[in-house]
Amino acid sequence: MRLPEILTADLPFLTALRRDLHAHPELGFEEERTSAIVADLLEKAGIAVTRGLGGTGVVGTLQIGNGTRSIGLRADMDALAMPETAERSYKSTVSGKMHACGHDGHTALLLGAARYLAETRNFSGTVHFIFQPAEEGRGGARRMVEDGLFERFPCDAVYGLHNMPGLDTDEMAVVAGPQLASSDSWRVTFRGTGTHGAKPHLGKDPITAAGTFLAALQTIVGRVVDPLQPAVVSACSVQAGNPQALNVIPDIVEIGGTARAYSPEVRNQLENEIGRLASGTAAMYGIAADYGFERRIPPVVNDADSTARALKAAGTVFGDKLRTVFPPSTAGDDFAYFAGEAPGCYVWLGNGPAVDGALHHNTAYDFNDAAIGPGVAFWTTLVEQELAPV
Ligand SMILES: [Zn+2]
Ligand SMILES: [Zn+2]
Repeated sequence: MRLPEILTADLPFLTALRRDLHAHPELGFEEERTSAIVADLLEKAGIAVTRGLGGTGVVGTLQIGNGTRSIGLRADMDALAMPETAERSYKSTVSGKMHACGHDGHTALLLGAARYLAETRNFSGTVHFIFQPAEEGRGGARRMVEDGLFERFPCDAVYGLHNMPGLDTDEMAVVAGPQLASSDSWRVTFRGTGTHGAKPHLGKDPITAAGTFLAALQTIVGRVVDPLQPAVVSACSVQAGNPQALNVIPDIVEIGGTARAYSPEVRNQLENEIGRLASGTAAMYGIAADYGFERRIPPVVNDADSTARALKAAGTVFGDKLRTVFPPSTAGDDFAYFAGEAPGCYVWLGNGPAVDGALHHNTAYDFNDAAIGPGVAFWTTLVEQELAPV
């Protein structure tokens, strides 16, 4: 892969920066050091900076020429609460925290793109470099949206990028349609009337109702959801009674789990059907059921127009190593909140082979520095093509 000279010259700096971020991981909404480094480097590059959006979020805005189109590029900055086990010179210096998802790399890539674009200025329009806190389940994207991200920094399109082990570092996957699943939680409480285990007819047994409910739960995916649409419903927690009191039928049974889908329709269906099954089962046994469904993260579904633009840029940079077929992930990414505000596209940048089998969220995982050049080149090419001077 041929990289522009200015970018090649910046690679040693970006590599050192990436490793410094790796050595100093910070959890969601605690990215004080990281966001200060980001904001300082953006300012040094002559880019207008807004700090503290959505807590520790940072937005850099670079406007060149008189082009009216405006796009947002997203990097996440947070690390995970887990120990780093692999030995490396830039190993985490904070016990129990590590960059096991490569967000240190995402941050370095987007800073590399900002530095390059601020120097070369070869476009006409506005780029918002969005550095997001708390992607790993703490709701950073939503906080930025609630803080007025898209009112203050309107975007005609928004793009996200994640590293992907298993793809070569000079490889990228850009695919239209679903990329990541929705990730929601649900809870059902069956409320009966507790009684002596020997005299069930004097109470209303919620445990039998729970058994019926759990046995029927998979019929939602098996019999209600379109067989061509992926969906997952899992019960992951059941709490009832007391193992020290085996002659007591309890008053309540609490059940909880997760639900995943790739389309808003199936997501709605899962929410409705789990609740319907719970209330139907309760009615069948003459007890009550409480139901709650917490919508945590929507699915990430790539928009056709912004995907076409990302495909063009990725084709320019990666040539025949651009993959246009790649399976979606059952994980979630709250980039979905950004893609709900502007047409969005989420791309996968190769991270090379999984070293010793270490994948995302493994204690030995590491972002591959060989991906920095290709990743920065993708961002800069996307901007130069999307915001080409007329
Ligand atoms: Zn992650
Ligand atoms: Zn991640």
